[in-house]
Amino acid sequence: MADIKYHRVLLKISGEGLCRPGGFGIDADELKRIGKELKSVCELGVQLAIVVGGGNIVRGREIAAHGGIEEVTGHYMGMLGTVINALAVQDTLELLGLNTRVQSAVAVDRVCEKFIRRRAIRHLEKGRVVIFAGGTGNPFVTTDTGAALRASEIGADVLLKATKVDGVYDRDPVQDPTAKLLDHLNYNAVIDARLEVMDVAAIDMCQRNGVPVVVFNLKREGNMRDVVQGKPIGTLVDSAGAENVSAAI
Ligand code: UDP
Repeated sequence: MADIKYHRVLLKISGEGLCRPGGFGIDADELKRIGKELKSVCELGVQLAIVVGGGNIVRGREIAAHGGIEEVTGHYMGMLGTVINALAVQDTLELLGLNTRVQSAVAVDRVCEKFIRRRAIRHLEKGRVVIFAGGTGNPFVTTDTGAALRASEIGADVLLKATKVDGVYDRDPVQDPTAKLLDHLNYNAVIDARLEVMDVAAIDMCQRNGVPVVVFNLKREGNMRDVVQGKPIGTLVDSAGAENVSAAI
């Protein structure tokens, strides 16, 4: 078996990752591309769990801001959006020959299982990819918190946060091309500098449960495979990283 650093992995894919940049809904080509990346990771023998976001369909706060829909309803709509994405990811992976299960925190029992921790772990042990939908099942939080929660619950060796840039930078790399990629940070550095890697609640949960986070670009071919094999890709956030941004540069 290939050298693997992380044996049980929780991957967080945001809804934006499933459509074209700035787009809406689901793009079949993006899905297929992601599917191939994930298949190559599973072929290494890694146990893969995925938390999908829903921002390509509905974000609770945004939809409520237009009026007519209560914010709490918007959040439930957002959670249902993640179920749609989870089904899309499931079929894509199944067509590539992987065995999968979707488990949702919001009951939609015609289309998927409900979240049962022990059952999810059993699926992983049997080599099935488990796709977690519905976030935490509670409004007013995001799927990043859902990812931190599920990673902690299933005892993941790492939470891989897929982003559209190569990792965490000292400044916004989209606005400023001279921004520097930071390769290793402490959880506190991310929280204190408000680096917007993930919600503070999500980072805090990872810190309390000792789950390292790797922020990386899933759009680069082979990247995720390299990450699980321990190659220095993206930004690692754990308790041994730099205490602040200037120390990390
Ligand atoms: N959401 C929620 N509770 C959760 C997870 C998600 O209420 O535990 C709602 C929230 O409104 C959020 C939307 O679902 O904006 C979509 O999730 P998110 O914004 O995290 O998606 P992403 O940005 O990762 O695509």
